[in-house]
Amino acid sequence: TAKSSKKSLLALVNEKPAGNGRLIAVYGSQTGTAEDLAARISKEVALSLSIPTLVVDPEEYDMSELAHWPSGTKDVFGFFLATYGEGEPTDNAVDFYSWLMDGKGTGEDEGDEEDDMVFESPLEGLSFFVFCLGNKTYEYYNAIGRRADLRLERLGAKRIGERGEGDDDASLEEDFLAWKPSIMAALGSFFGVDASAAPSMRDRPHVPAFEVIDAVDPFDGVFHGELAYDKPRSWAPVPGSMADSGDFVVVGSHKFAESKPAGAFDTKHPFYGRIVASRPLFGKIVDDFNFADAQLPASNPPQWTSSGTKVSVKRECFHIELDLSGSGLKYTTGDHVGLWAENSPAEVARLAKVLGIADLDRVIDLVPHDSSSKKPFSTPCTLRAALSNYVDLSEPLKQFHLDVLAKYATDAAEKARLFDLSEDRALFIDLIQNGRKNLADVLEEFHSVKLPLGVVLTELLSRISVRYYSISSSSVEEPTKVSVTAVVVRYAIAQASGRSDGAKKPVVQVKEGITTSWLQRNHDLSVSADFAAKAAQNRSSVPALYVPLYIRSSNFRLPSNPAVPVIMVGPGTGIAPFRAFVRERVLAAQRGETVGTTWLFYGCRNKDLDYLYREELESLEKIVKDDGLSIDLRISTAFSRDGPKKVYVQHLVAQSQDEIWRILEKDRGHFYICGDAKHMAHDVNAALESMAASSGGLKPEAAKLWLKELRGSPRFAEDVWS
Ligand code: FAD
Ligand code: NAP
Repeated sequence: TAKSSKKSLLALVNEKPAGNGRLIAVYGSQTGTAEDLAARISKEVALSLSIPTLVVDPEEYDMSELAHWPSGTKDVFGFFLATYGEGEPTDNAVDFYSWLMDGKGTGEDEGDEEDDMVFESPLEGLSFFVFCLGNKTYEYYNAIGRRADLRLERLGAKRIGERGEGDDDASLEEDFLAWKPSIMAALGSFFGVDASAAPSMRDRPHVPAFEVIDAVDPFDGVFHGELAYDKPRSWAPVPGSMADSGDFVVVGSHKFAESKPAGAFDTKHPFYGRIVASRPLFGKIVDDFNFADAQLPASNPPQWTSSGTKVSVKRECFHIELDLSGSGLKYTTGDHVGLWAENSPAEVARLAKVLGIADLDRVIDLVPHDSSSKKPFSTPCTLRAALSNYVDLSEPLKQFHLDVLAKYATDAAEKARLFDLSEDRALFIDLIQNGRKNLADVLEEFHSVKLPLGVVLTELLSRISVRYYSISSSSVEEPTKVSVTAVVVRYAIAQASGRSDGAKKPVVQVKEGITTSWLQRNHDLSVSADFAAKAAQNRSSVPALYVPLYIRSSNFRLPSNPAVPVIMVGPGTGIAPFRAFVRERVLAAQRGETVGTTWLFYGCRNKDLDYLYREELESLEKIVKDDGLSIDLRISTAFSRDGPKKVYVQHLVAQSQDEIWRILEKDRGHFYICGDAKHMAHDVNAALESMAASSGGLKPEAAKLWLKELRGSPRFAEDVWS
C-alpha cells in the first residue's frame, strides 16, 4: 500500500472547521452504487440537518488517520461498503479494509486481539455507521460491510445507528430506502438537530451541485477523445505508446494516457485496447415478448420485429478480441476484463432533443457549487463526449430524481404529478420503475421540465460504470490479447404513462444493454463498407476502434500442475473462461506435457443455433484424437430446447456422478462453475451435494459438510454473475 502518495483526510476536514460536527461518507464502490448512496445520504444530511458533509474515496486518502482522529470533534463516519466477488472488498477499498482488519494483512478474518496491537491507538474517538451493499445470490453476502462494522466496534468506535444491508438480488434501492429513516433519526439525535423541523422536500429549493459554463476546445494537448467517425476534425494522435505505432483513436473520451507508466491502468484510468477481431457467435435466435394490451413499437429489422401482440428481439452473441500491446497490462487465464461503454448515438440524440440541446459540439466545463465537490468526469469536453462517453443514459431513474424534476417543471399539473411520483412509492414503481424509464423517457412525458445542464450531467445521470467480462482467451496462448464472449442484452418492456392524464394503453419499447449493444455497434462498424473504404483511402489514418478497459485479477485459476483433473460447468456465456482453460490444457498436451482429465459441461438452447465455440471445440477434440495427445478431453453438452424435456448441465453432472465423485475424491480434481449465479450455480451445487450422498454414500448432513469443505478449498472456484 502506498500510503505516502495519499492525501491527508485530516488536512481536508481541517480546511473547513465544523463546530457542530460533520458527516464523512466513505465509500467502497466497484460500479458506482455505494458511491451514489454515500452522496445521497450526504446530500440529505446537508439539506435536512444543515450539517456539513464530505464524500470520501478511501483510495485517495490516508485512512490510517482515523486512528488519530481528534477527540472532541463531533464527526460521524458513514461507511458504504460493497462486497465484491467471493467476499472481497472493492478495488478502491482494498487498502482501507486491510488496514482496518489487521493494519497490514490480508483482511481474511474479523481481526483479532493481537491485530489490535498494530493500531497506535484504538478508534475510541470515532462515531460511525455502516451500510453494506451485496447480493444474496453470492455466498459471502455483505461480508465486507459486516466485518468492517464488527471490527470498528471492536476497536472502540461508537456505532450510532443500526447497520443497513442492501441486497442487489432483490432490490438494493428498497433496502436503502427502508434503512434511511432510522439512520437519519440517529444522525439527527447525534447532531442534536430536529430533522422534522426542516422544510418538506417539496418546499426545499433545489441547489444545483454544478453549473455548466462554456469552455475552450478540449484538445489542449491531453487527449480527451471523441467519436471521430462523427467528427473527423477530432481524430488526434494518441500520446504515448500508441502514437508511436501511428494509430488514431476513434472511440472513447475518457481523459487518458497522461503519459501513464506501464501497469498503471486501473478502474479510474482505463487503457484503450484496440479491437483486433470481432465476430458473431450466434444470431439466429429470437426472444419473444408478449403484451396483451399495449401499443407496440414500429419494427426495426434486423434487431426486432413486432406483429399482433408480440415483439421478437434478436438474440446475439459476439466474440471480441482486444489488443493489450504497449500497455504493460498482463493477465492470467481466468481473470476479468472491465469495459467502459458508450451510449448509442440514437439515445444521445433523443436526450439532446428533449433537453433542447442544439449544439452537441459545444465545449463545456463544470463549476462546482461547493469547492470541495469533485467533478464526476473530466472536463472541458464537448456535450457530445459528456453524453456519449461519461454519463449512462440508459439507467432507470430513481425516485428521488422525480423530486428534482418536479422542481424544474413549469406547468403546475406536471409539477404536482412529479411530486406525487417522488413521494408515493407504489405509484413510482408502477409508472416509472416497472417500465425501467430513463431520463429521456420521463422528459418525453413531462414537457414543461426545463433542466439546467449541470443538474442533468451531475445529478440525474450517473457515470457509466465498468462492466466485467470473464476473459475467454488463454494468457499462455495469447499474452497480449484478451477476448470477450458477450451476449447482447435486448428486451421489450411496457411503459405505462406517468402522467395523471396519460394514455391508458402502455407503450412498448425495446431496450438494450449499454455495453453489449455498443460492442455490437463496434462490430457492425468494423465490417461496414464505409469503414473499409476509409481504411483503403488513407493508410496513415486508418480508423481503429478502441475500447477503454482494465484487467481485474480473479481467483479463478487452473491448477498449476496440468496433470490435475479439472471439471468445468459453464452453460451459455459461462463457457467464456472454460474456452481458455480447454485451449490452454490442449496446448500443454501439444507441448508434450501430461494433462489430466479436462471435462467441460456446456449447455445452451439448441445444438445448431447457440452452441458457443462449437466448431472450435470440435476441432480441438479432433486434434487431440488425431495427434494422440496425452489429454483426456471430454465435452458433455446439454441442449435445453432441442427435445421434449429440458436438459441442463446439472442433469449431466448427475448422470456422471460416480465418475465425478471419483475424480474429485480419489484424484483430487478441481471443480469450476461459471455463468448464471441466480439459478444455475445453485442447481449445480445441489447436484454436487446429492452426488456426495449417492455416490459418496454420505448422510445428508455429511454431504452438506462435504460440499462446504470443497467450496472452501482451493479445488473449487466459482465465477458467477446475475
Ligand atoms: P446493462 O445496460 O447493464 O443492462 C443490463 C440490465 O438490464 C440488467 O441488469 C437488468 O436490470 C436489465 N434487464 C435485462 N434484461 C431485462 C428484461 N428482460 N427485463 C427487464 N430488465 C432487463 N456477460 C457476458 O455476456 N459474458 C461474460 O463473460 C460475462 N462475464 C461476467 C463476469 C463477471 C464477474 C460479472 C460481474 C459479469 C459478467 N457478465 C458477463 C455480465 C456483464 O458484466 C454485463 O452485466 C452484461 O453484459 C450486461 O451489460 P450491459 O451494459 O450490456 O447491460
Ligand atoms: P442462456 O443462453 O440464457 O442460458 C444457457 C443455457 O442454460 C440455456 O440452455 C438455458 O436453458 C439453461 N438454463 C436455464 N436455467 C438453468 C438452470 N437453472 N440451470 C442450468 N441451466 C439453465 O445463457 P446466457 O445468455 O449466457 O445467460 C446466463 C445467465 O447470465 C442469464 O440467465 C442471466 O441471469 C445472466 N446474465 C445477465 C446479464 C445481465 O445483464 N446482468 C447478461 C448476460 C447474462 P433455457 O433458457 O432453455 O431454460
